[in-house]
Amino acid sequence: MESQNKHTDEENEMIEREYQALLDVYLHSNHRRKVEIIEKAFRFAKRAHQGVRRRSGEPYILHPIAVARIVAQEIGLGSTSICASLLHDVVEDTDYTVEDIENLFSPKIAQIVDGLTKISGGVFGEKAKASAQAENFRKLLLTMSEDIRVVLIKMADRLHNMRTLGSMPAGKQLKIAGETQYIYAPLANRLGLYAIKTELEDLSFKYEHPDSYKQIEDKLEKSKQERNELFSMFSKPILESLDKLGIKYEVHDRIKSIYSIWRKMQAKNIPFEEVFDLLALRIIFDTENDSEEKKICWSIYSAITDIYKPHPERTRDWISTPKANGYEALHLTVMGPLGQWIEVQIRSRRMDDIAEKGFAAHWKYKTGEKDDSELEKWLQTIKELLENPEPNAIDFLDTFKLNLFASEIFVFTPKGDIHTLPQGATVLDFAFSLHTDLGLQCIGAKVNHKLEPLSHQLNSGDQVEIITSKKQKPNADWINLVKTARARAKIRSIFKKEYKAFIKKGEHELEHFLDGINQTATPENLEKIMEHFSVTKKEELFYRIGKGSLNLDELIKTVFKEKSQNKWMKYWKLQFGKSNDNQQEASATEKQEPGKVDQKKPLKLTEDVTYRIADCCSPIPGDDILGFMDNDGKYVVHKRQCPVAMKLKSNFGERICSAVWETHKVLSFPATIEIKGIDEIGILGKIIQVISDEYAVNVSKVSIETFDGIFEGRITVYVHDVDDVTNLCMNIMKINGINSVMRVENDK
Ligand code: MN
Repeated sequence: MESQNKHTDEENEMIEREYQALLDVYLHSNHRRKVEIIEKAFRFAKRAHQGVRRRSGEPYILHPIAVARIVAQEIGLGSTSICASLLHDVVEDTDYTVEDIENLFSPKIAQIVDGLTKISGGVFGEKAKASAQAENFRKLLLTMSEDIRVVLIKMADRLHNMRTLGSMPAGKQLKIAGETQYIYAPLANRLGLYAIKTELEDLSFKYEHPDSYKQIEDKLEKSKQERNELFSMFSKPILESLDKLGIKYEVHDRIKSIYSIWRKMQAKNIPFEEVFDLLALRIIFDTENDSEEKKICWSIYSAITDIYKPHPERTRDWISTPKANGYEALHLTVMGPLGQWIEVQIRSRRMDDIAEKGFAAHWKYKTGEKDDSELEKWLQTIKELLENPEPNAIDFLDTFKLNLFASEIFVFTPKGDIHTLPQGATVLDFAFSLHTDLGLQCIGAKVNHKLEPLSHQLNSGDQVEIITSKKQKPNADWINLVKTARARAKIRSIFKKEYKAFIKKGEHELEHFLDGINQTATPENLEKIMEHFSVTKKEELFYRIGKGSLNLDELIKTVFKEKSQNKWMKYWKLQFGKSNDNQQEASATEKQEPGKVDQKKPLKLTEDVTYRIADCCSPIPGDDILGFMDNDGKYVVHKRQCPVAMKLKSNFGERICSAVWETHKVLSFPATIEIKGIDEIGILGKIIQVISDEYAVNVSKVSIETFDGIFEGRITVYVHDVDDVTNLCMNIMKINGINSVMRVENDK
């Protein structure tokens, strides 16, 4: 290492201080005292990373120390994991090998470090292509099912990298923040690591929408005093009542996370001031006897509802039926003293440990006995998935994510056993979740004693009796009836041959068809065709063509009706009156190879950059945006929170860059607003008047519906930026009879 990289005395002191802090955390935990091996791992890692610095300029060793501390303090793991965390980058970044670690430490530590090395560089390796990234993700899951500690340490690693993301260039920040939101946060949630999930979401949000983050942060700070007063007013009678019950307890105020506040503001289109459930009260009680827990929870519930009126539909009993990730608690929402709804969460100390530290704590309380928790079952599903992987690694990732995100329903067997399934699961899914043979021979089910077909969607609380027949033969189309990864994988593996034959046939037919109209199956054409038929995967497209369920002739009238210009080009022309398309292309900056995006500086959307506004989210100046380089080397501009962009960020991180608007007041963009009000004579005229008076812009599309005296309209107008939309909405709001006006997604 170069000499100027040598650590100063001050830095060495800081390293020792941080290490001591880690040891203190460990010594305050319930784990056995194995300080010696931790000390050895620290000294070894320190020497191995000697002189190396992070991008921020800090000595590198501070990173493994910080990861180890998260692992000990926030996940609650012991010495083996702490050692593996301290050593996690040694094999990757230095000359030491896994064998060295095994010889010096233990086979277990070496195995975990090996797992972490294999999946290093993020789930999605630096320069990895989409498929390679998905492949890496598969590796992550594989190692996870071998030793869950690998993935827990990986979570800690990601969390520390997110906490220190500030020193990365902007493009990298977006890529890492995108992956974090797409994969790591949902995975943390699935593992029951709530605190980490929340922090990961908040940090991603901070980098994707810095202005909104700052605004909410400021408003939270300003309203703090008021909230504290409300909290003490609200909790006072509850505390008095709990004291009378003679329970040992503590209470905390919980503030909704910045990201969830923002999500709520977006979903309901309301300002910060109207988010009423900012505050929640958490009660954690201690009990000697685990079997008393449930009784105590409900007696606290009873004490609270004697004081405040509960919301009839917002009691959540996660005690009788814990969540799939192990979460247990009793939640209720009551009407507070100032007429606002406030959530109260009731947990025992044990439940709180599980909620905060997830899986690791779960094990702590289950020592000795075989753990049959939902999480175990979930890990089992992953193992099975990995044994029967989807032919395409990206499909696999999508299938897996489906299971990660889906919220859960609870279904009962006739004997009263509870099973967890993702929302939207069908009778067939349930059959496969019980046993593969039940799935294969299933002909339907009695759902709450009523006969229902295979495709019937189940609801929480349903009692389901699967009906089978020896004569039943599974059918390749069953793939369309199931939602769970397990059932999908089973059906796919049985019909591998059939699927392959249809896929081949379909591919051939499509080529033949394209040939007939002087086209070829370029990636671009395939993308357009898939878009037309709303199919997301190439294999699915071929399969459906092969089965004859798609009408290719449609394409002649739609996708291939002369090289149609895209909307953006048309628009460009409108604005500048340029006469032909060739000139448009000529004004483009030199074509860049896809995959070579300059992530160091943001893409400035000036008049001489060729870009297209994404149809899926239609951003306008003022929206937080990013640029994605498509297969033709042209930029497509998306909103940062667009779901399509989220997926692109994680699959093609290297083709994403941050982007800024420079087109102010020169160009116009379509924006759609939704107006609701009372249907009065002439109201539409008044609205149009406001639009044309103030903006002299064209209304491009109007659709109005009225029913029972209520008026609902969607109007698409051309505006310059977000301010225009806001002003327009405010002015329309002034019209008598109008109830609400808001910007919505553009109509397709
Ligand atoms: Mn690391």
